Amino acid sequence: MSGESFLGLEIKGYTFKCLVCQNPEFLQRDIPPNAANISAVDGDSANQSADGAVCTDCGYIHDFAYGSNYRWVRWRR
Ligand SMILES: [Zn+2]
Repeated sequence: MSGESFLGLEIKGYTFKCLVCQNPEFLQRDIPPNAANISAVDGDSANQSADGAVCTDCGYIHDFAYGSNYRWVRWRR
């Protein structure tokens, strides 16, 4: 369908693609600290939730630290 948009990520000017299947389309999901696979050794990050980008094709979840150098964008197909 023309004019349809999808949610993706832009990182430092680059379009982020799934590390597994190269799909640029994601769903945003907050990942609570107890669900994120973060080692408790690092006290600074252990108690913070992560910003999850779930690949709409293969379902692989990429987690980003909130406030990092990336942004969610709506792309046009
Ligand atoms: Zn994927």
